[in-house]
Amino acid sequence: MVSLPFQNEIYELKPSKILCLGKNYAKHAEEMKSEVPKEPIIFLKPPSSLIGPDETIILPNKSKKVHHEVELAVIIGRGGKNISRKEAMKYVLGYTIFLDITARDLQEEARRKGMPWSICKGFDTFAPIGPRIVPANKVNPHNLEIGLKVNNELRQKSNTSEMLFKIPEIIEYISSIMTLEVGDIIATGTPEGVGELKDGDVVEAWIQDIGILRERVRKEKE
Ligand code: MG
Repeated sequence: MVSLPFQNEIYELKPSKILCLGKNYAKHAEEMKSEVPKEPIIFLKPPSSLIGPDETIILPNKSKKVHHEVELAVIIGRGGKNISRKEAMKYVLGYTIFLDITARDLQEEARRKGMPWSICKGFDTFAPIGPRIVPANKVNPHNLEIGLKVNNELRQKSNTSEMLFKIPEIIEYISSIMTLEVGDIIATGTPEGVGELKDGDVVEAWIQDIGILRERVRKEKE
């Protein structure tokens, strides 16, 4: 169970689903040698992959290439279906930092075979989140510096203004398909600069006005 500070309380994260956007920054789509999508690309991560701040990302033995992806996460504060983009921001509780950890070699294999991404995205510890939830009215989520360092070396740096699909559009799109429930998490995609994580690394992801999410990296025991 992951709990994060929210205003003067502790908010228990119990999402019914974690929704993630693929290729929502043009330069990341480019580095993945992909086209920019015409509609949001949505996939799911299991809630069992969540970990809180200052925990450990485990590199699974089944993968030889695990990548970091820093993302702005939206926490849903009110459930709904068929939410219009005009109303969408009323459904947001707040924002935090999310790492969409990805077994890139298994994703490349899934891509080649036309298979789903559940495995490459779904290992335990592949969804670090935190360090706190900033209330929706306290930040402009579409203009925040976002970045990530590994062992103090800069890997990713961008601004959420570069997102292709903005949050109201994303909420409208997702809720036209599935009901959004209180506590659901939407990870809005990563900017360019994704790269490999190794045993012993320390990852620091930051988003302006939210904070720093720090995690250790360890290899799974044989
Ligand atoms: Mg991602």
